[in-house]
Amino acid sequence: MTKFCPKCGSAELNYLPWLGEIYVCRNCGYQGALVIEDGELAREIREKRFEVIKEEETEAESYKGAQKRKG
Ligand SMILES: [Zn+2]
Repeated sequence: MTKFCPKCGSAELNYLPWLGEIYVCRNCGYQGALVIEDGELAREIREKRFEVIKEEETEAESYKGAQKRKG
């Protein structure tokens, strides 16, 4: 069964058996024993996270605009 990161909904998880039942997300850096096995829930998390990223990008864009004047 596919396992998903509870923080970002990514399936990019590394299993680290030497630390116990620990998963590490290659996408957001989450570490923990809790993972999601529900693809539908993971999709909701990804969509929520995408909305946050869009807001952050808007701020980054205005910052980039200010930087461009240098060149
Ligand atoms: Zn993650």
